Amino acid sequence: MSKLKSSESVRVVVRCRPMNGKEKAASYDKVVDVDVKLGQVSVKNPRGTSHELPKTFTFDAVYDWNSKQFELYDETFRPLVDSVLQGFNGTIFAYGQTGTGKTYTMEGVRGDLEKRGVIPNSFDHIFTHISRSQNQQYLVRASYLEIYQEEIRDLLSKDQSKRLELKERPDTGVYVKDLSSFVTKSVKEIEHVMNVGNQNRSVGATNMNEHSSRSHAIFVITIECSEVGLDGENHIRVGKLNLVDLAGSERQAKTGAQGERLKEATKINLSLSALGNVISALVDGKSTHIPYRDSKLTRLLQDSLGGNAKTVMVANIGPASYNVEETLTTLRYANRAKNIKNKPRVNEDPKDALLREFQEEIARLKAQLEKRSVEEKMRLLKEKEKKMEDLKREKEAAEMLGAKIKAMESKLLVGGKNIVDHTNEQQKILEQKRQEIAEQKRREREIQQQMESRDEETLELKETYSSLQQEVDIKTKKLKKLFSKLQAVKAEIHDLQEEHIKERQELEQTQNELTRELKLKHLIIENFIPLEEKNKIMNRSFFDEEEDQWKLHPITRLDNQQMMKRPVSAVGYKRPLSQHARMSMMIRPEARYRAENIVLLELDMPSRTTRDYEGPAIAPKVQAALEAALQDEDEIQVDASTFESMSNKKSKSRPKTGRKSGGSSSSGTSGSQLYPQSRGLVPK
Ligand code: ADP
Ligand code: MG
Repeated sequence: MSKLKSSESVRVVVRCRPMNGKEKAASYDKVVDVDVKLGQVSVKNPRGTSHELPKTFTFDAVYDWNSKQFELYDETFRPLVDSVLQGFNGTIFAYGQTGTGKTYTMEGVRGDLEKRGVIPNSFDHIFTHISRSQNQQYLVRASYLEIYQEEIRDLLSKDQSKRLELKERPDTGVYVKDLSSFVTKSVKEIEHVMNVGNQNRSVGATNMNEHSSRSHAIFVITIECSEVGLDGENHIRVGKLNLVDLAGSERQAKTGAQGERLKEATKINLSLSALGNVISALVDGKSTHIPYRDSKLTRLLQDSLGGNAKTVMVANIGPASYNVEETLTTLRYANRAKNIKNKPRVNEDPKDALLREFQEEIARLKAQLEKRSVEEKMRLLKEKEKKMEDLKREKEAAEMLGAKIKAMESKLLVGGKNIVDHTNEQQKILEQKRQEIAEQKRREREIQQQMESRDEETLELKETYSSLQQEVDIKTKKLKKLFSKLQAVKAEIHDLQEEHIKERQELEQTQNELTRELKLKHLIIENFIPLEEKNKIMNRSFFDEEEDQWKLHPITRLDNQQMMKRPVSAVGYKRPLSQHARMSMMIRPEARYRAENIVLLELDMPSRTTRDYEGPAIAPKVQAALEAALQDEDEIQVDASTFESMSNKKSKSRPKTGRKSGGSSSSGTSGSQLYPQSRGLVPK
């Protein structure tokens, strides 16, 4: 059973963080303007002329550098978490360039109550809601996972080297196989789960910044609620909340990528670019195919994009001029996401509700206990009767004391309620008020936005022109306004085209590099792998969609008869051996029965085969004659120093051709370039 609701858009909000210390110190220009009332963000071109208009975007809500965490929570996240408590699926994405506040928004600053992010705030919200509920039973579970280079890691698992797989079931959809989840009974317990996961996130990461800017972290809270419905039956609703801290959206520098590096560059943001493609396909209107299957992230969160979940996207941006390109890219991305339509639905009585299992188990155990304790009860009853007498007396004394206490307590009561109830009530009222304020704000913003868009229409209707001149003036003004709007749209189109071209060039470059790599592999295979072997492998290989990789069918009798026909005497050896040979091999190391390495060669250096140059042997008489001749001619002099430097050069350059030193010298210089660096918020 499911309650269908009409479709609703993905809610998109933008948050701009304050200038940080470095940016202030370098006195960068602030290029972002935020109009909280109107829900608009404008970005001006730092290199533009003074009359170039800023680019303006409108969102469901916008938050400037003064925004507080609780404001975002009350206005934007609380309604979503409330829906999850009612049994809807909900997702919060934090999107944006590295260093713009994604983690700040999701987690916040640890140990600082005011700066707590959505995740810890939702813990409080959920457990407070449960503590106030009546006639409902809840079960809360938490999981925590990470996607890095298209591999899924369970951040709560003991074995952090294990990689998990996505599976699909027709009834419950896509899930992570073997993902651990912990039942939590309090804020403290679920906080502990989060902390463990966060610690594991940094395990194995040599550079935490680098790692978090390239990986996606997803904290999942599943809330099951059981309640007796109008039909008198027990019903279970299950809401799942995905809290997603995405990888940094900045363009990865792809130039010079090779080998391992290339592998990383092409895989690195697969999930992020797939997310963008899914969004584009969803809002395109013409696409019939939505490429959810292209990445782990989009497969796992398929419900949140055009599915049955409620979704909020927070686009994070920075205010400084040097980030203007990335800021605009993020805003355009967010602008597109606004148009995604979801059809939220309450999950009622799903097959995989854990709560149902728990309830049934408890009922079973209770029945067992009941049966066993009947006999025991009879015995105890007699004992109890005796004790009752004693108790009666004690009770009378206690009652007297109790009356005294009550009299004292009644002084503390206000309006017939005890203090706990009273504060609870007040808190509830306060929350209600806050919610009302948030609602009010939202309505105001909507009205403002509507007013803005109707501006022109209403003007036209209201205006009556007293004179021709006035009409001309007003129409000229209007024309100017429309003209500047046209310019803005034209500029936007131009920007989008440029961005598109840039993206295309990057893709082409990646493709070229991949093609080159492919050619190399091809060359090696065609020239160095025997055709027969190649064909064997080709015939056995198949593509596993589920795991997104090539695999080999196991060898069967048909493929390889030779393998199956190996003589028994060869099992465990490289070739058939007689019993006698085997025994001899074990007893004495005689070369005759050694299958391999019949000749043992020492790794000696070969003996020297050259002699030092000694000069030609000259008869003493000739030598004397030569010396005499040389004495006469001064100009013939042998310059010992040039000779020496020449021979030095020669001996130094010689090892270059040698294998060992050549290898080490090249790795020494280029070693540092092997590791990519994220661009982050570092000025270009
Ligand atoms: P990201 O996760 O997007 O890479 P972080 O959340 O780590 O970015 O933010 C980078 C830095 O900026 C952190 O030191 C963080 O505390 C600070 N910061 C981000 N957003 C805000 C904000 N709205 N108010 C104050 N500080 C912020
Ligand atoms: Mg982060």
